[in-house]
Amino acid sequence: MSKFLHTKYSSLTPYDTTEETESLKGYIRLNTNELPFPPSPLSLVYAHKASESMNYYPDPECSQLAGKIAEMMSVKPSEIVFGNGSDEILNFLFMAFCEKGAAFPNITYSFYKILAKFHGVDYILVPLKNFRVEPSYYKDVKGRTIFIANPNAPTGLALSLKELEEIINSNPESLVVIDEAYVDFGAESAVSLIHEHDNVIITRTFSKSRSMAGARLGWCMTNEALAQDIRNIKNTLTPYNINAMTQAAALGALKDDEYTRRNINMICRTRDNMKTRLQEMGFEVTDSCTNFLFARHETVSGEKIFTALKKYRIMIRHFTNPPAISDYNRITIGTPEQMQIMLEVLKGIIKNASE
Ligand code: PMP
Repeated sequence: MSKFLHTKYSSLTPYDTTEETESLKGYIRLNTNELPFPPSPLSLVYAHKASESMNYYPDPECSQLAGKIAEMMSVKPSEIVFGNGSDEILNFLFMAFCEKGAAFPNITYSFYKILAKFHGVDYILVPLKNFRVEPSYYKDVKGRTIFIANPNAPTGLALSLKELEEIINSNPESLVVIDEAYVDFGAESAVSLIHEHDNVIITRTFSKSRSMAGARLGWCMTNEALAQDIRNIKNTLTPYNINAMTQAAALGALKDDEYTRRNINMICRTRDNMKTRLQEMGFEVTDSCTNFLFARHETVSGEKIFTALKKYRIMIRHFTNPPAISDYNRITIGTPEQMQIMLEVLKGIIKNASE
């Protein structure tokens, strides 16, 4: 820490990206829930075309993109705000709406806690029940903003719209943020709820089902009053947060929806097949509605599996915290070929460990 740093930043806990960088070249990367497929060819054409005008600032409102998403999701463009990844949207939400604190599951996307700490937000961790978000546990959050990843990560499990509405209805004084980063892989979107309740915000991303994690684009949908609050924060801090190439690439991706549908189908088929194969090998696997599986072996520890796979240049995600999940690993669904390689290696690891 330099002597110039503001003391309020002296003990930050940044998001751990050490296993997501250049050092993973040559690895089968099953640790960060990206799609193994390249972006849509149309998105590449659009991005290239946009790059020819990058001497100009991009459209701060992402108007074309907002129009297209509005049409696809049956919302108004004024109900949409874009972020540099949905992480940036989450950052805006922690800044804007957490004066009375935040509440989120004790096992969920780690960024919620990181942002709460950064912004000095008082937060409570709500336990899961058998790895599921339990709506009745959210009855006493006292105006705190509730963050629910649906489907949740890393467990992969989703709530129904009815269960989400139970949380929303029992907390009229709280905002409920539903993070739908993985919704395209098998859960029901709650976007319709933004027109039925005044306290709902939905966040989405192009990082997963649309193969654009490197382009950094997320968005939220909510009622106009809340959207305007978020937009004011965005336009104060980072009015040009979405670069022109990303805006264009995203428009191309949305116009090529067939490509996305095909990829999602492939991932879901591979996931279901992989789940069965893992169960045959003695793994307990949750009912994932996402592009990853959350699994533990009946005898071999999660750490052992993670470390052994790494030696074979296969990277999955291991968690040491909280201890309740330290025997689980999160495995992103790759191509069928990558999954086949992983299963073969895994078979050897399990066999060795059991001898
Ligand atoms: N929400 C959840 C639940 C996630 O797992 C992630 C990414 N790991 C994000 C949001 C953020 O995604 P991005 O910033 O790439 O949109």
